[in-house]
Amino acid sequence: MENKFKESLLNKNTLSVTWELVPGRGATEKAQETAIASAQQAANGGRVHALTITDNPGGNPAILADYLGMEILKMGIEPLVHFTCKDKNRNQMESQLYALDRAKVRNLLVMTGDYTVSGFQGRPKPVFDLDPSNTLQLIEAMNKGLEIPGFKASTFNAPSDFFAGCAVSPFKSTEAELMVQYYKLKKKIQGGAKFVVTQLGYDVRKCHEVLQFLKINKLDIPVVGNIYVLPYGAANVMNQNKLPGCVVTDKLLAELNLEKSAPDKGVGQRLLRAAKLYAILKGIGVAGVHIGGHNLKYEQLEYILDKGEELFPKWKDLVKEFDYPQTNGFYYFEKDERTGLNTDQPTNRDNLPLDAPAGAMNSLMRGMHGLLFTPNKKLFPMMRGMYRATEGKKKTGKALHAVEHLAKVIMLDCKDCGDCAMLDLAYLCPMSQCPKNQRNGACGGSLDGWCEVYPKEKKCVWVRAYARLKKYGEETALDVPPVPPANWDFYQTSSWSNFFLGKDHSAPILGIKRPESKIPKS
Ligand code: SF4
Repeated sequence: MENKFKESLLNKNTLSVTWELVPGRGATEKAQETAIASAQQAANGGRVHALTITDNPGGNPAILADYLGMEILKMGIEPLVHFTCKDKNRNQMESQLYALDRAKVRNLLVMTGDYTVSGFQGRPKPVFDLDPSNTLQLIEAMNKGLEIPGFKASTFNAPSDFFAGCAVSPFKSTEAELMVQYYKLKKKIQGGAKFVVTQLGYDVRKCHEVLQFLKINKLDIPVVGNIYVLPYGAANVMNQNKLPGCVVTDKLLAELNLEKSAPDKGVGQRLLRAAKLYAILKGIGVAGVHIGGHNLKYEQLEYILDKGEELFPKWKDLVKEFDYPQTNGFYYFEKDERTGLNTDQPTNRDNLPLDAPAGAMNSLMRGMHGLLFTPNKKLFPMMRGMYRATEGKKKTGKALHAVEHLAKVIMLDCKDCGDCAMLDLAYLCPMSQCPKNQRNGACGGSLDGWCEVYPKEKKCVWVRAYARLKKYGEETALDVPPVPPANWDFYQTSSWSNFFLGKDHSAPILGIKRPESKIPKS
């Protein structure tokens, strides 16, 4: 069965067009009926390659994007379903993926998702069991035919046909935030992402940066540029950092403020801005555009496409109109003063100051880990021997676990997951220090180095990890393949025992084997 979205994105002669629908909370309310009516118009119009459907946006409940995807597919247009990690654990993800596969809904945009905000009788429990890199790995495994381990032998499911992509946010002001975004992007591509959608933003040098970054890393993957038709009200909310990851600078907000006093309340100017952005994005070489906007009508979308095509031959002249840098914003590449975009020369980061403190606790943890937790060095064999001797001895094991837990609660606010990820994060704990428990890189919601959930209160744990490593020139330790998700088999067990006995996720990474005598004989 053909997939028009996939074909358009992979065809270098076509600019793929997606339109974002936000169906909202309810089943048959106005928002859902409007979304369905818009979908029908797009299907009839024939200019949109896929309709993207948001998944509980803003951390609020809404009708299941998967279901609307199935309904939209029947209209003869491809859905691109947003598939986020905030509300479902890995088994629920697998269940939904089976349903989507059966319904032939194949295009997925995999994202971390905004932190859960509201729900029935209070704030819901955030899930964040898998992150996008791990979710993409699951989808990739399903596309190959998921292996189901059995008592005697494995069986394999029929391969699915998902076409899954990921998001990236280049609109980050600090070096640490941006670098961890790009390291994570590489992990998502290694995990199986087939396309990349940029976060909404109006600094085109940043959009160009994503393309340049992929190019110098020899990652040939289609990029979809984001065009959000921006009214003053939404811009004001974004400017105040009330929509995670959406950046609107003071300069842009001031321009929108002026435009809103026009007789059409600024509608014409914002549609024109969107058309200009379309022309520039096409000019810099994106494979597609992702168009969104509150209450955007199909006719307005067609206007953006037509006007954008009309402006395209002169796109280079428009670049200067999209110069909205964040205050002291960091760019991965040096600026090309001639074009207003980027050269292919990375910014020299060596002497830039650290974006977070990397003080005494960092030094203490480094020292301890060098001594105790580095395989075949110093005290590692002794620790391994001790845990090997106590394995299976319940009382001693419990006492050792209690001592470990006490020390780790005092130093790290340990949550006793038993599958410790501190080694992956410069000795910081993603279970206690990151509200979304991210083990593979920062989510897209941070601003100016602060955590999405605790703005101006707590630095993003990945910013802290980058600073800790950069202090020793080791920041590329974060640029590694995806780390597996926490294995909840280990919950409330000794992570030190699991580590030294080669049971946890670090074992294959560090080459720690199970002691011979402890491997059960089959
Ligand atoms: S600590 Fe970083 S990755 Fe975790 S929720 Fe906050 S901003 Fe996102």
